[in-house]
Amino acid sequence: MVKEKVRGNLIVISGPSGCGKGTICAELLKNNPELFLSVSMTTREPRDGEINGVNYYFVTKDEFLDKIDDGDMLEYAVVYNGNYYGTPKDQVEKKLEQGIDVILEIEIEGAAKVNETMPEGIFIFIMPPSMRELKRRLIKRNTETKEQIIERFKRAYREINEVSKYNYIVINDEVKNAVSKVESIIKAEKCRVNRIEDFDLNTKEEMLHELLTEDLKDYDK
Ligand code: 5GP
Repeated sequence: MVKEKVRGNLIVISGPSGCGKGTICAELLKNNPELFLSVSMTTREPRDGEINGVNYYFVTKDEFLDKIDDGDMLEYAVVYNGNYYGTPKDQVEKKLEQGIDVILEIEIEGAAKVNETMPEGIFIFIMPPSMRELKRRLIKRNTETKEQIIERFKRAYREINEVSKYNYIVINDEVKNAVSKVESIIKAEKCRVNRIEDFDLNTKEEMLHELLTEDLKDYDK
């Protein structure tokens, strides 16, 4: 019998702001409710319609700094406008232990930190089809001021050069295609040989014996 590892996979989905990683993750979760999307903590203000504990845990800077001091964050980064974003450690660890695959939708700096502590993670970079398209998407979603869009766009230029540190690249030309590729990656990763914990040789030998004696006894060619 082949015994698979019980522990879930940690899947880090990263890419520049506006590349569509949020949309891809939402679609992924809709199609695969067995996956767990980690809820990040942030010091930024909630946007219209965002719910505490669902989209983010919205906290003050002091609360965030306390969490860092207590060693409760798997990773964190100061992203835009001096705001902190980070992944609380406990929920991720609990789900992985339960055999549930966990998705982290985070920016590049945080992904690099996760790579240091959990290199066994699966690192997927979502790439916009072009920088022009990225700029178009940042403007179209209409959630940032002009200055914020410029800041995000400049950061995106730097971030794209980090792609070689990832295991996979998915170009987000169309959400449906991109989601399907991410799903394929998750499925393929489940078949990795290093996920086999135990391969019972006794059972294998017993089966061989059974095949050669019992099942072949009436075969007389
Ligand atoms: P937004 O303000 O648009 O919700 O998010 C800004 C950026 O922060 C996005 O690129 C998003 O992926 C990233 N982000 C969200 N949560 C986390 C987190 O827990 N850690 C890190 N490092 N980045 C995050």
